[in-house]
Amino acid sequence: MPPSRRNSGQPQSSDPFGPWRCSAPKGCTFGENSDLSLITVEDLSDAVKVICTNESCELSPYLHSACFEAFEDLALQCLKTCSRAKGWSEKQKLQNLWTKRGFDLVYKACECNCGRGHIKKDLEWSPPSEGIK
Ligand SMILES: [Zn+2]
Ligand SMILES: [Zn+2]
Repeated sequence: MPPSRRNSGQPQSSDPFGPWRCSAPKGCTFGENSDLSLITVEDLSDAVKVICTNESCELSPYLHSACFEAFEDLALQCLKTCSRAKGWSEKQKLQNLWTKRGFDLVYKACECNCGRGHIKKDLEWSPPSEGIK
């Protein structure tokens, strides 16, 4: 059976320059339907890039920093309850969280809104305007 797209009415921009609607798994802190929840490529200084394990994910590749921090905190809490991470120091937990080692333990807490994948921080990405404050 072919997968049926239930929420086909959602206007998802396929434009590589956005704007994208923040795809924070627990909902954007700025409100789902507010213009504030939009992220544009001109303003990535306050955004964090994430990768969905679903290669055909059409959701925003960016979260607001604030939304990401809330999401990361959740993943970190999850890691703290993992017996396999018990021997890790707080610093190691944070360092390992988005590497394969840590992510394998917490991915269940990182479900993407697309419903077919899990999202993690893109460690190779850095904000284009970093340093300019
Ligand atoms: Zn957001
Ligand atoms: Zn996804």
